[in-house]
Amino acid sequence: MKGLKGKTALVTGAASGIGQAIAIRLAEEGCNVAINYRSSPEGAQVTEAQAMQQACGQAEACGVRSLLVRGDVSKEADICQMVATTIEKLGNLDILVNNAGIQTETPSHEVTAEDFDRIMGVNLRGAFLCARESINHWLTQGQTGVIINISSVHEIIPRPLYVTYAISKGGMENMTKTLALEYAAQGIRVNAIAPGATVTPINKAWIEDLEKQAAVESHIPMGRVGTSAEMAAAVAFLASDEAAYITGQTLFIDGGLTLYADFREAWSA
Ligand code: NAD
Repeated sequence: MKGLKGKTALVTGAASGIGQAIAIRLAEEGCNVAINYRSSPEGAQVTEAQAMQQACGQAEACGVRSLLVRGDVSKEADICQMVATTIEKLGNLDILVNNAGIQTETPSHEVTAEDFDRIMGVNLRGAFLCARESINHWLTQGQTGVIINISSVHEIIPRPLYVTYAISKGGMENMTKTLALEYAAQGIRVNAIAPGATVTPINKAWIEDLEKQAAVESHIPMGRVGTSAEMAAAVAFLASDEAAYITGQTLFIDGGLTLYADFREAWSA
């Protein structure tokens, strides 16, 4: 895709799932990739190996460089360090992908203040602080930049038992729009993707159980769950110059999940 070759991208939570697929796809498109992981590097090493393997097969990706960056996005100091290390070791930062995310299943009336803060700290505060650090770099350097937030269909669909997750993704929608508006004139684009049900470790409750997966798929108009590679393709597009005039948008990638499937057949006059 146009405009990705030679750019540098930082992907948070890139040791598994959607973040891993994004790092691999961006490397395939010729981006240098900083692969963030929270604690142990094994998953990130797999990401790096696959990213380099993919990149080697593509002429446009020759010379792609990668970097593993440890950092907990719920800690401000880690974020500052992670962004600074990326710039120092890979020479610049052009694309930030706010992907790291967590969830827990708890009835809303039992959610503790600590659990609330923990999930917000990763999903929303962490994403904001990564954006702030990246924007500061772009403004200081007088350069343009791109942020892609990995939101969820639950930025608009209520999610009982996952209230903090739903609040965090709802907040992400307005963060995407607010930052896009505030920095549009400086050439900084901010967009989001909102995945539907996708096969990744976060969904271990149903990915290893065909019956449960079929139950999930029964709610999806296209009749199947999504893949990380499908999410990564949309991120590559939004990060590229093909999307140069797109900002402040959330692209839903959900097999039609947000199309009100119950209205497939008329049930009211
Ligand atoms: P995942 O569990 O494989 O990925 C989440 C990643 O975030 C993991 O690698 C984890 O180590 C990392 N992470 C967690 N806390 C972190 C922290 N404090 N600092 C740094 N990294 C941290 O699951 P996934 O499905 O790939 O999730 C990626 C994103 O996609 C999340 O934001 C999630 O909310 C979103 N999403 C996923 C789905 C889905 O169905 N899989 C649907 C909608 C949205």
